Amino acid sequence: MSTRDVVLLGSTGSVGTQAIDVVRAAPDRFRVVGIGAGGGRVDLLARQALELGVEVVAVAQATAAQDLQLAFYAAAQARGFSAGQFAVPKILAGPDALTELAAWPCDVVLNAMTGSVGLAPTLAALEAGRTLALANKESLVAGGPLVTPYRDQIVPVDSEHSALAQCLRGGARGEVAKLVLTASGGPFRGRTDLRGITPAQALAHPTWDMGPVVTINSATLVNKGLELIEAQLLFDVPYDRIDVVVHPQSVVHSMVEFIDGSTLAQASPPDMRLPIALGLGWPERVAGAAAPVDWTQPASWTFEPLDEAVFGAVALCRRAGTTGGTAPAALNAANEVCVQAFLDGRLDFAAIVDTVAQVVAEHPLRERPTLVEVLDVEKWARSRASELTQKDPT
Ligand code: MG
Repeated sequence: MSTRDVVLLGSTGSVGTQAIDVVRAAPDRFRVVGIGAGGGRVDLLARQALELGVEVVAVAQATAAQDLQLAFYAAAQARGFSAGQFAVPKILAGPDALTELAAWPCDVVLNAMTGSVGLAPTLAALEAGRTLALANKESLVAGGPLVTPYRDQIVPVDSEHSALAQCLRGGARGEVAKLVLTASGGPFRGRTDLRGITPAQALAHPTWDMGPVVTINSATLVNKGLELIEAQLLFDVPYDRIDVVVHPQSVVHSMVEFIDGSTLAQASPPDMRLPIALGLGWPERVAGAAAPVDWTQPASWTFEPLDEAVFGAVALCRRAGTTGGTAPAALNAANEVCVQAFLDGRLDFAAIVDTVAQVVAEHPLRERPTLVEVLDVEKWARSRASELTQKDPT
């Protein structure tokens, strides 16, 4: 096995930092040649760049370029390096910096950015012919028909889709009856009324440790709805053959049912380092990437149907995905605004999905959009969602 050159987009986030853990543990398999992030954590980005010895660092915030350079020298000094003991990486800065980084020469690009701002970098990596380890589900959901022509270059890093990809190795395409996505159910599983939930309650997620937007999306089940769309786009299985089942322990990450009644499940304790390592090393596994299930301890894995009457997000996403074109892009953009409105106290938790649904229904649908049209629809959807979530001044 030769060493793979890796570019990490979103290196300072939850998936990005865990990807660096994976690389640290398998230096014979992976070498990071470039990293990039939005620009909120310049000190961390600089320390990562120094430790990994990258060729290039990208920061989306144009004004952060100088801070990044200063932070890099400070990090070198803190580690006792003198001039000549380290190479200063090339710095790319500005709104297109991560897109430029995505096309940097390498073997595999990990897109671990958050939000549909990851779409342009996703397309750049794919158009450059790279293997794309995709953790940024929003770029697939928003890009839809722009991204699907390249699906053979994409290796999913989302735990459910990594599980599906692993299970799909167990049979031929024509033998697949159903994809079954598992959902933890979020912190409000079992509730029959979602009104009055506070941001603090919604941010206390039982299983995974993630950023605030993803955590709220897990609580509303919008995350699962986006994953449904992601699964359809990645694996090209029709929506009526993709199910969602609630599995609170989050040990079975998803399943594939075959035409003979056999179901294959992928199980491992919740740890993103496993799908990240497999995404970077695909199709080869990385030894010791994560701890396996401990069979010496008693355990119960339970499954229950999703209560779609309370959690409308999955049905909404199924409708938007079936409509196709720009409908999922509008949904995702509106949702990002509604989540922020909820966190800011301007929108009730129970109103997030209804507000998103309204924006999707009203948006000017494009069936075969260009990138510019997708971005226009997103802008429209954000602006409409903002209008709908302004607090009544009375
Ligand atoms: Mg997931």
